[in-house]
Amino acid sequence: MTEANTEPAPIDRPVVAAVRGAVKRYGEVTALSGVDLELRAGEVLGLLGPNGAGKTTLVGLLLGLLYPDVGTAEVFGHGPHSAAARMRLGVMLQISNVPETLTVREHLELQRSYFARPLPLAEALDAAGATEFADRRFGRLSGGQRQRALFALALCGDPDLLVLDEPTVGLDTEARRALWRGIETMASSGKTVLLTTHYLEEADALSSRIVVLSRGKIVADGTPEDVKSQVRGNTVRCRTRLKAREIANWQGVEKVSELRGAVEIVASEAEEVVRRLLAADAAVSDLEIRRGSLEEALMALTSTTAPNEDERAEEVAA
Ligand code: ADP
Ligand code: MG
Repeated sequence: MTEANTEPAPIDRPVVAAVRGAVKRYGEVTALSGVDLELRAGEVLGLLGPNGAGKTTLVGLLLGLLYPDVGTAEVFGHGPHSAAARMRLGVMLQISNVPETLTVREHLELQRSYFARPLPLAEALDAAGATEFADRRFGRLSGGQRQRALFALALCGDPDLLVLDEPTVGLDTEARRALWRGIETMASSGKTVLLTTHYLEEADALSSRIVVLSRGKIVADGTPEDVKSQVRGNTVRCRTRLKAREIANWQGVEKVSELRGAVEIVASEAEEVVRRLLAADAAVSDLEIRRGSLEEALMALTSTTAPNEDERAEEVAA
């Protein structure tokens, strides 16, 4: 894995973009319920969360594509609609309508023409790893090339803040890594980056800070190391007469579910939990400890209700 920049978030740096007290509803659905987030100059912030967490909505508020029902959004100290803010932004959205008949180069030239001080074309192509297919029409690109071309487009204005909404979704490992290199290049040249993803591995590889969003709320915020240590757990499973409610209060226990007469405990300190289990119930049986994957642990962190039993049963059988 690429070695992440694990410097602490530079809290002495100026705020580049912020949402404060943001609430956004779509009819009955509350997509964001009171989000406060400040992005500081030079940080690469990985906004991590499962589908539906509210990532795109948050990005939409910052870009002025959506209005919050409550709260405010600002970019470089201005409202997101101001020209002053937009000239310093480079954006890559999940849904982008790009005419398919122009070549990558033509698109980039057009995009560069909107800016007073654009990035040299060769630099945008190079940083995005798009040089080799610069003369191909957009409609002829593979999925990975398309994403790199869109990334190059986002770089055209030589932006101070890059906003990338799930840039690698649907790409294979190789294409994903190619885009990662581009993002790393920009990060190391001092750009501020806001990247959304539902891959913990990606947030970990690229970010100096990870913010986990779940159901419209921030549930974790820190360096990749902080967040990983918060989400990385072991699963302890056993049969016991102790109640899940009781175990849930123990130190180091993150989540307890009852499952057909057994309990399943996600714990940051499994050994401690096992000692305590044995002390509290000498009749503990079928004890099992399993190291959880980071992705599983993230799922535990971002789901507030236990999955239903049928799904669990399949998971156990798999
Ligand atoms: P993410 O980008 O993390 O997948 P979104 O911000 O797209 O999350 O969505 C957050 C929630 O808001 C989801 O429940 C989604 O279904 C809902 N949502 C998003 N956009 C709309 C919309 N235009 N109309 C209705 N509901 C929406
Ligand atoms: Mg989204």
